[in-house]
Amino acid sequence: MTVGPTIDQKSPSGAIIAPDLNKHDPLGTCPPHLKPRYEAMAARAKKGHADPAARLKCLECCAWQSGEVAICHIVECALWARNMKGRGKG
Ligand code: SF4
Repeated sequence: MTVGPTIDQKSPSGAIIAPDLNKHDPLGTCPPHLKPRYEAMAARAKKGHADPAARLKCLECCAWQSGEVAICHIVECALWARNMKGRGKG
């Protein structure tokens, strides 16, 4: 799902600025019973590491089912090639 910028992502002049990553919870949609499994990955993502961030996005895309990430065949997705080597490790 594509979501446009929210009001707090715009400067006073109306220009779109980067989202505040400190407010972003990479595990925001993760079911509570799975959060401990991905907390270390989320911590690395919040420090700015791209690989765990992309991996978490794939997990979120697949409703946090790592098996589904492993068999993703949406090659048109920008994250597909990045996550090829990490598939199924979630
Ligand atoms: S590569 Fe597949 S699992 Fe990852 S975000 Fe894209 S469509 Fe979803």
